[in-house]
Amino acid sequence: MPDIYRLTKQIAKYLNHHQVNQVRRAYYYAEQAHLDQKRFSGEPYITHPYAVAVLLTDMKMDEKGLMAALLHDVIEDSQITKQAISLQFGREVADIVDGVSKLAHINFRSRAHAQAENFQKMSLALAKDIRVILVKLADRLHNMSTLGVMPASKRRIKARETLEIYSPIANRLGMHNINVELEELSFSALYPLRYRLLMQAVKKIRGKRELLVKQAIYFFEYELKKNNITATVIGREKHLYSIYQKMKIRRKSFSEIMDVFGIRVLVQKKDDCYRILGIIHSVYKPFPGRFKDYIAIPKINGYQSLHTTLFGEKGTPIEVQMRTLDMDRIANYGIASHWLYKKTKDAELKARQWGNQRWIDDLLELQQISTNSVDFIENVKTSLFPDSIYVFTPKGDIIELPQGATVIDFAYALHTYIGNQCATCRINKQLSSLNTVLESGQTIEIITSNKVNPVKSWLMFSVSSKARSNIRHYLKNNSV
Ligand code: MN
Repeated sequence: MPDIYRLTKQIAKYLNHHQVNQVRRAYYYAEQAHLDQKRFSGEPYITHPYAVAVLLTDMKMDEKGLMAALLHDVIEDSQITKQAISLQFGREVADIVDGVSKLAHINFRSRAHAQAENFQKMSLALAKDIRVILVKLADRLHNMSTLGVMPASKRRIKARETLEIYSPIANRLGMHNINVELEELSFSALYPLRYRLLMQAVKKIRGKRELLVKQAIYFFEYELKKNNITATVIGREKHLYSIYQKMKIRRKSFSEIMDVFGIRVLVQKKDDCYRILGIIHSVYKPFPGRFKDYIAIPKINGYQSLHTTLFGEKGTPIEVQMRTLDMDRIANYGIASHWLYKKTKDAELKARQWGNQRWIDDLLELQQISTNSVDFIENVKTSLFPDSIYVFTPKGDIIELPQGATVIDFAYALHTYIGNQCATCRINKQLSSLNTVLESGQTIEIITSNKVNPVKSWLMFSVSSKARSNIRHYLKNNSV
């Protein structure tokens, strides 16, 4: 059952008195709004938004995000409007709640399998505020962890959707912890038998490997101490879904997967990662071709680590990861570590945290020029996928267009013939002109007429190469 006292105690560790009270107020408001509603399990509905908020305290979500988490199903499930929430709790909270509700609606559209990737991108582009995504991911995580009460068919649909849409989003944002949980829950719901078999297989070899890993850890600690390096050495186990994926994609049997168990070394300074690498390579023989320097070249989601695989005792491979505590936090929380890090002043440290890929660079720059976290969040939306917008056909297919695209570009994206004869259009059912610049999330219907032909002025308001080359082609062949 929800325990508002426990929640407030938890957030009082990083929020001030006024902020805690705001969150408390949102809780009571949500409790009232859902008063007569029950979850599928029979529990009072408020248990769900409460649990979503609790999940977000883990990443030290700010008070507005927590309020939105508590209120996230209020517009959807009661008569309460966005305006009412805005009046009570301010525009920012209302916008997040509204964003989460809108994302829920898109789920019900027809969506071809092949479009899943576009859909992920679009969800991100559509969300005006990164907190919308974080609330949505926590919402999905709680729903997945309480999936057991649902009928089997519904469980499978939710699990598949989670694997196609939500866990890749979590991965894209570098949120490893949430991603792992989503994948494990979905895997066990979608393929209960395979999940159980794999779990048993891991259990079976665990005993044997555990000893080996323990010996290696002991040795690591000894060597590091000798070299005056302060480090934490821990054993780790790959999660079942990632083992399953590896078996499937690389067509390998379970016994061929060598990195089920491994070692992680956490240190204070980056230099220590390389020093440790030198030390262990001088004692254990490294597997050729398995060393990866994700510190110098971070993954696109900001992940940084050194990876190597060693020949352990009797030739058994041991995978080792080395990273700093800061990198570890990024590896686990990704974009959400912004909240964990709010107090970090050191710009150079931040630079390393975020890696050097373009969008991460953008984020970093924004973080530095933004005077407060609100600015930062507001700016995140445009930096995730700055070059594209995502719009719908009336049937619900998703079309990707360059930023600044107009109705003309959309028409040509469907078919040259539709472009050449597009007479007028409806955007979200409203009659609109052909030079209207489109925005993500709109639904566009093209009305064609065989009396229409491309004219020169269309070149002034089309940006996609497909539209422009087709218009030019037509004008050249039909000029008098
Ligand atoms: Mn919900």
